[in-house]
Amino acid sequence: MTNTFRSERRTDPLPEPLPSPPKQSGRSDLAIFPIRILGDPVLRMETKPVTDIDDTVRALVEDMIETMYYAPGVGLAANQIGVPRRIAVFDAHDELGPRVMINPELVETEGEIEFEEGCLSVPGRYWEITRPAFARVRAVDLEGQEVEYAGDGLLGRVLQHEIDHLHGRFLLDALPKRMRKKALKELRDEALGLT
Ligand SMILES: [Zn+2]
Repeated sequence: MTNTFRSERRTDPLPEPLPSPPKQSGRSDLAIFPIRILGDPVLRMETKPVTDIDDTVRALVEDMIETMYYAPGVGLAANQIGVPRRIAVFDAHDELGPRVMINPELVETEGEIEFEEGCLSVPGRYWEITRPAFARVRAVDLEGQEVEYAGDGLLGRVLQHEIDHLHGRFLLDALPKRMRKKALKELRDEALGLT
């Protein structure tokens, strides 16, 4: 999968305010947000739980789904667009379609599998990363109802990847130390134009 969207590098440490709620129903003002890139401090922040699912949260989720498809990606965490709240969206290309998880918690994992993983915040790069094969997540949906997502394959992987983001972690943290150092060096060399 090729990344056709490259966002501008942002370095300001202050989180941006939540977008304004829609002025009318059937929004015509859906927004595509620039995706924050590795090095942006907001990606390292522990996100804050959502206590009130209001119009602002609903609008944010719509915009996150739009942004995820535009990128294109299979998942997006709110802090990847500069909003440090515990919200992620995903579409694992299955019958579930686009889904939101608010205040998700990883409640069960099982097995182990190597899987080629990429991240919209590290565009165009992929690594073979070993994680549990199966994941079960409990979260709340936009109606405030408790929901559970569970599976292996791409779904199991995207659930774990997005929850990592919401805790300020990202995919290279899941690599063994030596491989992580090598990957970071490659990224640094690339940024400096040495490769
Ligand atoms: Zn990611």
